[in-house]
Amino acid sequence: MSLGVHAMKRPARLANPASALAMKPYRVASSLSHPAQVAISAQGMTFSGAPNTVSPLTTLTAASTTTQAHDEFWRNTRVWADTPAEDFLSYRWSVANTVQGKPKLLKFLTAALPDHVPFDRSGSRTQSRDELIDDVFEGVTAATMAIRITPYLLSRVNWEDPRNDPIFRQFLPMKSVMKPDHPELTLDSLHEEADSPVKGLVHRYTDKALFLPTSVCPTYCMFCTRSYAVGADTDTVTKSSLKPIRRRWEDAFAYIEAQPGLHDIVVSGGDSYYLSPEHITLIGERLISIPNIRRFRFATKGLAVAPTRILDGSDGWVDALIQVSNLAKKAGKAMAVHTHFNHPQEISWITRLAAQKLLEAGVMVRNQSVLLKGVNDDVATMGRLIRDLADCSIFPYYVYQCDMVSKTEHLRTPLQTILDLESQIRGSIAGFMMPQFVVDLPGGGGKRLANSFVSYDRKTGVSIFKAPAVKGNDGGRDKQGMVYKYYDPLQQ
Ligand code: SF4
Repeated sequence: MSLGVHAMKRPARLANPASALAMKPYRVASSLSHPAQVAISAQGMTFSGAPNTVSPLTTLTAASTTTQAHDEFWRNTRVWADTPAEDFLSYRWSVANTVQGKPKLLKFLTAALPDHVPFDRSGSRTQSRDELIDDVFEGVTAATMAIRITPYLLSRVNWEDPRNDPIFRQFLPMKSVMKPDHPELTLDSLHEEADSPVKGLVHRYTDKALFLPTSVCPTYCMFCTRSYAVGADTDTVTKSSLKPIRRRWEDAFAYIEAQPGLHDIVVSGGDSYYLSPEHITLIGERLISIPNIRRFRFATKGLAVAPTRILDGSDGWVDALIQVSNLAKKAGKAMAVHTHFNHPQEISWITRLAAQKLLEAGVMVRNQSVLLKGVNDDVATMGRLIRDLADCSIFPYYVYQCDMVSKTEHLRTPLQTILDLESQIRGSIAGFMMPQFVVDLPGGGGKRLANSFVSYDRKTGVSIFKAPAVKGNDGGRDKQGMVYKYYDPLQQ
């Protein structure tokens, strides 16, 4: 083990004065059952760049015109049993308490986990805390993504049964559930680097390009399609990182300006949440000023992993975003936010308030989910996710087949799963809230409807697609007439 858990001194377990509370069954929906409740409202919030000394809670409650009580759900996580709302709702506190890297992860897990946890869904077998921690650290050693998880996400995990928790499964690897890679899995399955005329700018579609100003995110997903670049180096991967350097950005802007056929830019990463408010303004104003650009979106998982930032009056990120959105509208252009929720458990009353704030500010928010085995690959979960997002006025835009990225074999599903989900969910919600179920074609064919395959051999698990409108460059290879193959996971 290169930096195995055994190499580290395990911290003593923290005393847990609210252990009785922490042992209560986990509640997904906000409820009013907690004795200490937070009074907050989405209405009347003032986010005018208040000085950092102003607590977000004070700002919110003082500005509220209606009162609503909300459950302090984070106290169910032992580590934060005594954390007041004022801290939990502060973005500064969130950054300071983000679990990043192995030592912090070890400390957190040691404090958060009970003595034993169920090993499987039946609960007939258990695993000790130390066994689970060893399992996670062996997973971390094998994974392609570094560890970084926000307190918000960690507080949505059911720590009494983490192995079967849909959030734990996405962000914390366990060696015991990982499977050997399909031989076609790679770090850059979409051939983004080959389709990049400028470092950090992927130009594959005729009218749209992907701008990657940074390769850092507030949370790292174990199934990241950009495993080749995003996050810190891991034991197995040296990342092709994309630093937020102005000169590199200017090269990208110059390319965009020189391509009159480009009308649409996705600003992603990494995550736009990791750009400063000044960077959001700079990039937004620059794109608005380019005549051929008519639309752009900021891609961020922030709303899903750290929604408190949207509500924190002492942080300027959302103000900058709203200002850019308004500027774009005045210029007759469209700005949107594309976010990334995968499971209804990620949605809380904080999410709803944050989404409400963006809705009232006129910011269009769309969601892109990734279909993940054991997370959202059943009709009930995916259907509820779509409905819950729609109820937050977050438009369910895409559900992606999990990309063929290294070390994701245990999270991938066969194509048949996405076909079945689409078929069973369509008709259960208004058409404009129905996402497109797509495969982002390995090799850089772009997104295609999953049911648009040319052929799908369910025995071999190979599906074949064509993408006639996608040109790209793919390192100089002509894409004309290319076929693209998606391979189901091996162990079906
Ligand atoms: S937020 Fe997006 S870019 Fe960042 S790790 Fe997750 S999937 Fe990758």
